[in-house]
Amino acid sequence: MANESHTYTYPKTILNKGSGYLSGYSHTLNPYAGCSFSCSYCYVRQMPISLFRQEQWGTWVDIKQDAAKLLRKELSLAKRKGAVMIFMSTSTDPYQPAEYKERVTRSLLEAMVDEPPDFVLVQTRSPLVRRDIDLFAQLGDKVRISMTVETDLEHIRKQFTPEAPPIAARLKTLQLLADAGIPAQATIAPLLPSSGRFPKLLKPLVNRVCIDDYFMGDGSGGKRTRKIGVEAIYKRLGLEDWYKPGAYRIVYDRFIEEFPEEQVYISQKGFEP
Ligand code: SF4
Repeated sequence: MANESHTYTYPKTILNKGSGYLSGYSHTLNPYAGCSFSCSYCYVRQMPISLFRQEQWGTWVDIKQDAAKLLRKELSLAKRKGAVMIFMSTSTDPYQPAEYKERVTRSLLEAMVDEPPDFVLVQTRSPLVRRDIDLFAQLGDKVRISMTVETDLEHIRKQFTPEAPPIAARLKTLQLLADAGIPAQATIAPLLPSSGRFPKLLKPLVNRVCIDDYFMGDGSGGKRTRKIGVEAIYKRLGLEDWYKPGAYRIVYDRFIEEFPEEQVYISQKGFEP
């Protein structure tokens, strides 16, 4: 994005204690603060990290320095206290455009290869994740890539997340992960209007799908999303029916025609380790 501000920061800690909402995780890990993808529905806009900042969400990214050094230290301490289950990331995308050059996420994964946590979920929507397949292979079943694919319709994606990577690039990345034997899931979250072809597109690529929406999945029963005003986009497109608590059933029913039911998870269950 033009005029985006990048700042190098020196955090004191990198591994944060997991909050109650993410069940099954002991820690969260955010290589960056802020996010260039700037999704219209991003609920981080309503969180302190964004509210206390003067700049608009999506226009700034803080790049955490010495992150791997901190992680190595904190991981070995945390492992002495119990199982270390990491969610990376909760309030940024670890494969931000800045990651091409900065490699903070890659350095964190290298630290995890040397000092493996019990589990790490890598949540992204970026094809850049494919660059680190060599490291995921070394983490084996301790890692799962969760690739956000909210819809199969590129014109819908462009309406809601114009700065995010194209859907085709994400599907291609899921294919590469599957070819390399890396555990991965397609995360339809938040679900956007999609076509009946969507399940058939994902079937050859994954054996795990997670479906979530604003009402189950924004941590506040949809209140945060309402404040952001994303409903206006649905209205503009004449697709209000997709902005309803029951809309996920349309997608769910389509998916269980194509996938075994036990491979299709709803909301929080789909993010669990
Ligand atoms: S990629 Fe995630 S963190 Fe970044 S703007 Fe989109 S929803 Fe928010």
